[in-house]
Amino acid sequence: MNLAISEIDGGVPPAAARTELLGLTRDELTAFAVAHGMRPFRGQQLGEWLYRHGASDFATMTNINGVDRARLAEVATISALTVRREERSSDGTRKFLFALADHRTVETVLIPEEERRTLCLSTQVGCAMGCGFCLTAQQGLERHLTAGEIVGQLLAVQRLTGERVTNAVFMGMGEPLHNFEQVVRAVQVLTDDRAIGLSARRVTVSTSGLVPRIHDLIAAKGVRFALAVSLNATTDAVRDALMPVNRRYPIRDLISALEAYSRERRDMGFVEYVLLGGVNDTVADAHRLATLLRRVRCKINLIPYNAVASAPYAPPAAEAVESFRQILLAQGYSVFVRKPRGQDIRAACGQLRQATG
Ligand code: SAH
Ligand code: SF4
Repeated sequence: MNLAISEIDGGVPPAAARTELLGLTRDELTAFAVAHGMRPFRGQQLGEWLYRHGASDFATMTNINGVDRARLAEVATISALTVRREERSSDGTRKFLFALADHRTVETVLIPEEERRTLCLSTQVGCAMGCGFCLTAQQGLERHLTAGEIVGQLLAVQRLTGERVTNAVFMGMGEPLHNFEQVVRAVQVLTDDRAIGLSARRVTVSTSGLVPRIHDLIAAKGVRFALAVSLNATTDAVRDALMPVNRRYPIRDLISALEAYSRERRDMGFVEYVLLGGVNDTVADAHRLATLLRRVRCKINLIPYNAVASAPYAPPAAEAVESFRQILLAQGYSVFVRKPRGQDIRAACGQLRQATG
């Protein structure tokens, strides 16, 4: 009814009837412009306004003529995330809780380091994968994020901080490859040099191991990214218990997918390994990991477990972390121990959201 009245009045249709532009790729923006009677290059200009300048109002798009700007305002919207809460850690990590249009919330963590500003992006509200050590798992999956909501996290952080993000990692809430289509679109926008323009090596997709989707991502033409897999165990028995996805796609299949990535994409992948005290951090685990990865070109990130109140796990002892690292180094791997960041602001996956409700 409202729609009919606004059409008669010649007014702006309700937002639901308009197309949300944030999250569209350059090709999609071009198609959109053409479909609305504009010249194709308007798509490119729109992409630059949306993603380079973070514009949220058509009126500011000064190289687009008034007629087209008015048309755009009638048929399109540009959404923006609103920040509901922000926390700053003494180590410089900043954590944002963003409200989505439906009032659901997601977290985004900014990790400033000397030469880079890494943003940890969420891809879903909650997560369906059920990993026993992860707080996001306990929330279950509420819904997937749209590409606009994924890219919108980066734009909102740049707007709030006044500084450009240099690296994006899909390591916030959610399993990126469970939300394949929207994540692919977000990766395209992040790496398009006419859009956000991060180099592909600086956009890392992390997965708990949805093996068929890893192969789909490797095969996706024109989608450039770095791959990280969260291995987190060296036997299927332990991984089955920690990460239910392993019961469908066991360790051997996951490692083959990582090999396929480095072969097809001619790049090193990353292996993420959360160290849980007494569970997967033994000397035997370190040796097994070295053996498992011997044919894979990869770097290993060891992540000391960040304790989650209701999970039955403990952080590893400092000596266990060090001997694990030494064993891998001695076998010729490049190994990094992730510094625990933002512990005073609950920067582990899902923690700020849970504290806020
Ligand atoms: N779902 C994807 C990406 C988000 S989780 C994935 O699982 O890869 C990002 C990383 O955080 C994963 O490597 C995961 O194993 C790790 N992680 C989850 N909970 C953690 C915790 N409490 N402490 C340390 N790392 C954790
Ligand atoms: Fe989901 Fe990753 Fe957490 Fe597992 S570790 S529940 S896949 S967010």
